[in-house]
Amino acid sequence: MLTALTTILAFGAMEFMAWFTHKYVMHGFLWKVHEDHHQPKPGPFEKNDLFFLIYAIPSWLCIMLGAMNQNWPVVGVGAGIALYGLTYFLVHDVLIHRRFKWFDNTNNAYFKAIRKAHKVHHKNRFKEEGSCFGMLIVPKKYFKEQKIK
Ligand SMILES: [Zn+2]
Ligand SMILES: [Zn+2]
Ligand SMILES: [Zn+2]
Repeated sequence: MLTALTTILAFGAMEFMAWFTHKYVMHGFLWKVHEDHHQPKPGPFEKNDLFFLIYAIPSWLCIMLGAMNQNWPVVGVGAGIALYGLTYFLVHDVLIHRRFKWFDNTNNAYFKAIRKAHKVHHKNRFKEEGSCFGMLIVPKKYFKEQKIK
């Protein structure tokens, strides 16, 4: 029970972490790594994909060390981070950037709002003055805009 709770908490905390690192790290001192996500170059991989590896490390450490010490809530934290990574990949890389042609023709209002918010983020191709750094939490206005049309 506690393990399920730490999984959910870690997942939720990761949305905040993702927003924070995107805003202050990726658009900060690690801009060189994130830059090619905003100014795409040909090729299947982006330097930006490195961030998946960076997040995989704490996740893997929590799962491994937690299991070795039979500390299941810690394993839960690792699982939460891993689940967030998977969700982020499915939403950001597949649903928004279409790196794989899965789930075509989604008409879900929430998915559309996510996509729209992230497009706004990508309108700015440079380091400064971005907006919409979050991923799963979408500002309400992107839901409203759809209803008008
Ligand atoms: Zn960005
Ligand atoms: Zn993107
Ligand atoms: Zn982005």
